[in-house]
Amino acid sequence: MTKRVAVIGAGPSGLAALRAFQSAARKGAEIPEIVCFEKQSNWGGLWNYTWRTGVDENGEPVHCSMYRYLWTNGPKEGLEFADYPFEEHFGKQIASYPPRAVMFDYIEGRVNKAGIRPWIRFSSVIRWVEYDADADDFTITVHDMTKDHVYKERFDNVIVASGHFSSPNVPDYPGFDHYYGRIVHAHDFRDAREFAGQDVLVVGSSYSAEDIGSQCWKYGAKTVTSCYRSAPMGFDWPENWEEKPALVRVEGKTAFFKDGSSRHVDAIILCTGYKHYFPFLPDELRLKTKNRLATADLYKGVVYVHNPKMFYLGMQDQWFTFNMFDAQAWYVRDIILGRIAVPADKQVLMADVAEREAREEASDEVKYAIEYQGDYVKELIADTDYPSFNVDGAIEAFLEWKHHKKDDIMAFRNHSYKSVMTGTMAPAHHTPWKDALDDSMEAYLAN
Ligand code: NAP
Repeated sequence: MTKRVAVIGAGPSGLAALRAFQSAARKGAEIPEIVCFEKQSNWGGLWNYTWRTGVDENGEPVHCSMYRYLWTNGPKEGLEFADYPFEEHFGKQIASYPPRAVMFDYIEGRVNKAGIRPWIRFSSVIRWVEYDADADDFTITVHDMTKDHVYKERFDNVIVASGHFSSPNVPDYPGFDHYYGRIVHAHDFRDAREFAGQDVLVVGSSYSAEDIGSQCWKYGAKTVTSCYRSAPMGFDWPENWEEKPALVRVEGKTAFFKDGSSRHVDAIILCTGYKHYFPFLPDELRLKTKNRLATADLYKGVVYVHNPKMFYLGMQDQWFTFNMFDAQAWYVRDIILGRIAVPADKQVLMADVAEREAREEASDEVKYAIEYQGDYVKELIADTDYPSFNVDGAIEAFLEWKHHKKDDIMAFRNHSYKSVMTGTMAPAHHTPWKDALDDSMEAYLAN
């Protein structure tokens, strides 16, 4: 009987899995039946924008954490698909920090070309996954929202690709109960214009804090205050942006910080990160990890050590994204196709995880972390037929990007980088980021 593989999620990681199998089939390999379950009505995962917050049209938690006017926060030259360069999709090289709609079009272009949409069941929410040790297979319970019908199917392997930037980590602070401005998590932030003319407080000091604060600044916030728990972002902020130590409490519309200072704030945006959240998985199959480069319990970063017939894609914290998901997807595909063997001894799998953790912990330096993940991508690519690419060139682009941010946090997106896939230099964008208020594809691609 043909093997069956379930892929949970049709975002960049799940689509990478489908594309990996389709690529093997195109080269003549016999592949299993692949069924991808996607809870949204379209593909793209986080890149599939919706204005909704809270629950979607089916009463399910909204997956989207994106907002209007979002541009990539790292150069596209670091995330380009090795098998589908930007130039192939757009017919020309484009500027280095595309807005969301441009990225969505690019993601969709590759999978449209591969013809894998029929493998996906949309509006299909996974309710539960069980492993049957006797049959050595998985039973998946699915809620088909279109027919409002719940059914079960059996699979030989499960690939979890449901992402980990959708379920918000929402801390409480003294006084929040009585605060009478708006408190919103980054997950529910949709449009910076809402905060024009306001004094905005951004809690957190990572990418969402930096980008959402910058969006508010760009679209007319009166002031931005950001506050950090561990370490400041430390950029040279515009004069109406102040960085403060940790928030302690709020009283009325006044926020108090750890250094004893206080500030009037009209709105509070919690940029406090996300949780790995798999409500459809029992304890013995559920990944429990922090958001880090060396994920807990994943051999080679993808094989679940407690049940090696189950795989996870894209669960790491990320410098590399799309091409790392591809490297992972091709690797998992080759395990399923029997081209790569996973050691039978669980101790060997655990030792691999421990080695990755120790190596990650060996340094706090950003350069080290980027190179660490670059090495991981190289390691996986070496064992499959995913088109090899200049990973060191992508690392160079990331390091240049870091310098550009240090130089001017509100202007780093005006820089261009060279594609490591085609060798072409990206053109400069026609308008500096801070003045480019229209995030549509037409506006971005206009000459
Ligand atoms: P993140 O990188 O996990 O950072 C979470 C932040 O929240 C950290 O600064 C953390 O502080 C802070 N935090 C957590 N709990 C807290 C608490 N109780 N009180 C105060 N601070 C707390 O999450 P993220 O910034 O949301 O980024 C997630 C992903 O989205 C990243 O991959 C990022 O690149 C991506 N992203 C992309 C864009 C874009 O492309 N334009 C925009 C935004 C985000 P500690 O350091 O103290 O733990």
